[in-house]
Amino acid sequence: MADIIQLLPDSVANQIAAGEVILRPASAVKELLENAVDAGATEINLVIKDAGKTLIQVVDNGSGMTERDARMSFERHATSKIRQANDLFAIRTLGFRGEALASIAAIAQVEIKTRRQEDELGTRIEIDGSKVKKQENCSCPVGTSIQVKNLFFNVPARRSFLKTETAEFKHIIDEFFRVALVRNHIRFTFHQNQKILYQLAPGTRKQRVVALFGSSYQERLMNVEQVSEAMSVTGFIGKPEFARKTKGEQYFFVNGRYIRHPYLHHSVENAYRELIPHDTVPSYFIYIETDPGTIDINIHPTKTEVNFMDNKVIYAVIRAAIRQTLGLHNIIDTINFDVEKSVDFGPPPPGYEVKNPFDVPTTDFNPFESSNGKSTAIEKGWSIKPATGWEKLFQKPDKEADELSPGLLPDEDDETGELKSLKENVFQFQNRYIVTMIKTGLMVIDQQRAQERILYDRYLEQIRQQSQVVQQELFPMQVSFSPGDAGLLDEIMGDLNILGFHLNKLGQHTFVVTGTPSGIAETDLQPLLEGFLQQYKRNLADLDLDKSTNLARSLSRSLAVKSNRRLHPEEMIHMISELFSSSVPEQTPEGKRIFTVITQENIYQLLNR
Ligand code: ADP
Ligand code: MG
Repeated sequence: MADIIQLLPDSVANQIAAGEVILRPASAVKELLENAVDAGATEINLVIKDAGKTLIQVVDNGSGMTERDARMSFERHATSKIRQANDLFAIRTLGFRGEALASIAAIAQVEIKTRRQEDELGTRIEIDGSKVKKQENCSCPVGTSIQVKNLFFNVPARRSFLKTETAEFKHIIDEFFRVALVRNHIRFTFHQNQKILYQLAPGTRKQRVVALFGSSYQERLMNVEQVSEAMSVTGFIGKPEFARKTKGEQYFFVNGRYIRHPYLHHSVENAYRELIPHDTVPSYFIYIETDPGTIDINIHPTKTEVNFMDNKVIYAVIRAAIRQTLGLHNIIDTINFDVEKSVDFGPPPPGYEVKNPFDVPTTDFNPFESSNGKSTAIEKGWSIKPATGWEKLFQKPDKEADELSPGLLPDEDDETGELKSLKENVFQFQNRYIVTMIKTGLMVIDQQRAQERILYDRYLEQIRQQSQVVQQELFPMQVSFSPGDAGLLDEIMGDLNILGFHLNKLGQHTFVVTGTPSGIAETDLQPLLEGFLQQYKRNLADLDLDKSTNLARSLSRSLAVKSNRRLHPEEMIHMISELFSSSVPEQTPEGKRIFTVITQENIYQLLNR
């Protein structure tokens, strides 16, 4: 039988490629803008007519091309950006496949004018559906101008798939934003049907965001910054109160490229957990810079998806960065809040318990729902968020509040002035409270409650992640319980194991313990486990907690530092740091208040009653 396989003519192959890369006018806009960026332009003009169906033009003042390159640029797999397969893992440009121009030219009427600085004359080429119609010298400015007319003129089926003009135009705006947001040093203008839509001067990223989204964003956004040698995560996130039901302001950029990444999106959502209603999304503009060798961007036709070598690390870094920002934001609010409400400050009557606005014993409790018309805790200004960067609050009060910026506790072995001054700033009162000076007054922390919150968060996370923790080996110890308790213990042994308790059943009521969570001071395991089981059963009876929450609660309760234990300054500082990185530094899982701030006004009032 005769051979039947043939290579497709280029024009057909290009059309097929175009089907993947150029889905709609906005795709062509994206590719052309990216080429202009790659060409090192400092000024880019985008001109659109009829939502791109009639005309898309991008004019840049970048490198321009030689006559041969101008011609070559429309060949498939023709690129100046990579040369060999290895280069795929060192990509610093937006393009690298060399198929965009070929694809666009296969399905539109294209005119290019381009000139390099060193050439006197430029080149002008006209191409219709992959066929070169005209090529000539021209006098034109340095840089490149590409006009794309009548997109899909030769693929009527594709044309008929386009949505309304409004919808297509919205896609174009999206693509424009995705480039403009991360190329803040480039001047952009954007014309649509002869009208100027955007005119963006070079500036900072924040200025660019504000120029695109409006001046109210100046107020709405907070900085995020987490920089390490391997990776940097910077940018802005929206204050929780501005979270919206509709998506649209969620941006990840990796090495200057906009990407979609549901997994990383989840890390942001996770960081906002409990802070915003569950059906809303926060705004974010997150710029990730990392070694190109640690990512793969060659996994999607439009290059809007990226594989990170270590997804989990980047997930954690983003989440931590955001929590840090949110925490700082809220601890400032909390303390301001305390200051404002300081008028009726006074020692609580004996037995008085602060009522917990979140004391609802289910995990899907939504603090944003108003019950019986009353405003909820959050609406009243309570915050339930994590905080780090807290130590900046402890600086001498001469620093301005807006100078606060997240930072990490310095290592102990390089005891900086900061740590030293922190140590001088904290003391323990009656082996029970940690007292420390902050900008707005004296902060008094209940050490046992703080410890409880810290452990609770840690345990819950471990159970949820099913991540085995560091254990300390024990000389095997035997413990025994009543039949009921032994049965219960048997039931939750798997989870206890994850938390670091290594238990094995010996007999009907007897277990042998060979490991405990590292860091627990308690060596007498029998009473400890009894206390824990007591707590666990009480929670079972009184509250409708799910198993993980109950475990974490009961265990943190029974393991928290007993009230009267002396703490070293380092321990106290560490505890403060951990507390303010926890999910809800203000309250224990049971809703007891963990700290309070005694302000100058409070003291004044106490002294002048
Ligand atoms: P890629 O960007 O993946 O290399 P394209 O088809 O988008 O592929 O472009 C092909 C080549 O044409 C590029 O590698 C670049 O050398 C050149 N080119 C395209 N647009 C421009 C431009 N605006 N200025 C200078 N060179 C350009
Ligand atoms: Mg390109």
